[in-house]
Amino acid sequence: MNSATYISTRGETPPMGFQDSVLMGLATDGGLLLPQAIPNVTDRLAAWRKLSYAELALEVLQPFVGDDIPRATLQDLIARSYVAFTHPELVPVVPAGPVHVVELFHGPTLAFKDIALQLLGNMFEHVLARTGSRLNVVGATSGDTGSAAIAAVRGKANIHIFIMHPHKKVSPVQERQMTTILDENVHNIAITGTFDDGQRVLKEIFNDIPFKTQYRLGAVNSVNWARVLAQIVYYFHGAFRVMERTGAADVQVCVPTGNFGDIFAGYVALRMGAPIRRLILATNENDILARFFNTGAYQCGDVYPTTSPSMDIQIASNFERYLYYRMGEDATAVRRLMQEFAVNGRIQVAGQEPAIAAGRGTVAETAATIRKYYREFGYLLDPHTAVGVTVAERHLSADTPTLCLATAHPAKFKDAIVQALGADVARHPALDALMKLPTRCVVLPPDCHAIQTYIRDTLGK
Ligand SMILES: *Cc1c(COP(=O)(O)O)cnc(C)c1O
Repeated sequence: MNSATYISTRGETPPMGFQDSVLMGLATDGGLLLPQAIPNVTDRLAAWRKLSYAELALEVLQPFVGDDIPRATLQDLIARSYVAFTHPELVPVVPAGPVHVVELFHGPTLAFKDIALQLLGNMFEHVLARTGSRLNVVGATSGDTGSAAIAAVRGKANIHIFIMHPHKKVSPVQERQMTTILDENVHNIAITGTFDDGQRVLKEIFNDIPFKTQYRLGAVNSVNWARVLAQIVYYFHGAFRVMERTGAADVQVCVPTGNFGDIFAGYVALRMGAPIRRLILATNENDILARFFNTGAYQCGDVYPTTSPSMDIQIASNFERYLYYRMGEDATAVRRLMQEFAVNGRIQVAGQEPAIAAGRGTVAETAATIRKYYREFGYLLDPHTAVGVTVAERHLSADTPTLCLATAHPAKFKDAIVQALGADVARHPALDALMKLPTRCVVLPPDCHAIQTYIRDTLGK
């Protein structure tokens, strides 16, 4: 027997099991859910090194899922989640110049979010079938989460999905990956505001507890613990592949970051004992996180549009999870800091994080990196990945190989590629096909009541 228990970063939500944590999203006290204990797996690393991605996923996930899902069922959920991936290794690790690129973009929407969301969609379906309940997923996206979430739950029984994206502020391809999905359980909402407006409205909708309860709302944003969990797997996988290739004893991993979701999964991997010496956090000009790790001040600025739009984020929704560990797992301290941040838009944290280096890559530097890797190494980076590679190059180490997480296929962001190379070399047949398909979407203001009314009306039909 092993039971996995989840608690809130703010300490005022009763402990719960894995399945409830999957359905809950944000905790009822406004915090984020975390496992009560992170398992130490150092004595299992040797046995894990030879496993395939899906086998490794089962081992990594199991202690966090506990008895809530039987092992054979979990194995089946994992297998079904990764059939839509087009690469036989699922997550290939490709050498490019001085770094090793961990290609996370071989899923149905060509971004790393598929890895977590395909699994989450199947977990939702499993839990709902078992409990005989329904779920309405509501999410806000800066582009990639929305399409990946829609791809994960389209056509699934007992689930509707409502996705808000900032009107005309996602790339045409990203927009079409969402709005061309015409399944009757899929509802696209273009809000006339920024991604942060969408996040704010989403928080308001989820903080309206009677509404949340009546309409059985669930989250797919990176606040959902199961997403973080699925992402832990590729840190182990990437480290093992590169250790095998180079003979090194450990690696460092550079992560392009927006919401602190992906890199938080790396931080958990590190706490589990993964052979990772340190993480390198990379932001674009929206550098609240890079500033935090260099100065201890967490303070938002204005959103600055860049060629890596999925990282044009000022309030990193997963940061609170990290803060919980940084404050020594003291929920009272987290609650106090988050209240202070809500009032002043700024907090200051003492000390230093030895496990995370941080930096930023500008639009111009990112374009130069795309050019350099294409011309010198024959490797085409998407702009988000290129932000990471730009920062990683400043942190190379002679004895520790550097992994760079590749978060999207370059064809998803062809404007940035054309800007960098002067030629439209990033193509993908699945994306070219989108441009001819019919679409469905409503446009609404970034207002909690307007969105709630739309949800109510749609479900009432
Ligand atoms: C979502 C996304 C990111 C940022 O990931 P976080 O988990 O929000 O830090 C980076 N690159 C791409 C392509 C993305 O879709």
